Amino acid sequence: MSFLSTKNDVITYTVDQTSNSSLYISIHNGEVIVKAPTYYTQRQIQSIVEQKKNWILKHLKEYIEAENIRTQKINQEPIFIFGKQYDILLKYENTKSPTLNLRNKYVEIILPAKYIDLDKTKIIHATITKMYSSIAKDQIENMMEDIRHQLGFAPEDFKIQDLGNQLAKCSNSIITINPCIMQYSRETIRFIITHEFCHLKYKNHTKSFYELMEKHIFNYEEIAKQTNNLKF
Ligand SMILES: [Zn+2]
Repeated sequence: MSFLSTKNDVITYTVDQTSNSSLYISIHNGEVIVKAPTYYTQRQIQSIVEQKKNWILKHLKEYIEAENIRTQKINQEPIFIFGKQYDILLKYENTKSPTLNLRNKYVEIILPAKYIDLDKTKIIHATITKMYSSIAKDQIENMMEDIRHQLGFAPEDFKIQDLGNQLAKCSNSIITINPCIMQYSRETIRFIITHEFCHLKYKNHTKSFYELMEKHIFNYEEIAKQTNNLKF
């Protein structure tokens, strides 16, 4: 095992000089392996590792991050945004309040370090609810507009509001959307909102109500089946 000290890090690497291939650095399971021709001196190898240190550190960092996700996401249920699954990665930093970053394949929640030994269920839930709210604020208006175009009528107004277990409601010509529906696919969200639009015409789930739904939802049966257990 050899070491290279950089300004902030120490790179440990294993040198393999058993073959006569050209010099080659690889990273496997977080381990740096330098394959070098037999005639290379330790000093020459060290100098090449030095030149490549940024590349090595970048890949080591990616490996460590992926490893952290693997270990820390345990006990956290994944969440969904527009039907796509995201694992939750919890991090602790010296911050005052929780922050959430939406990454490509996971959701990173940074909590104040003082929370580390507390029960985080509520705080994680609140942080995710806040994220759904901001996605809803950004997206719902356009979706409402699309549905208005298709159906040819619209509510007087709409609200985005946490309704507990209920996903959406329509009363007094106002449609209220629970931001947590942002977890479902766009198709399902559209189904839920269209359902509330149809209540503008028919208060109850009558035959005419369902006829109106079926007229405006492509593959109605299938989505109706998927959303059967949802409350709206
Ligand atoms: Zn209904």
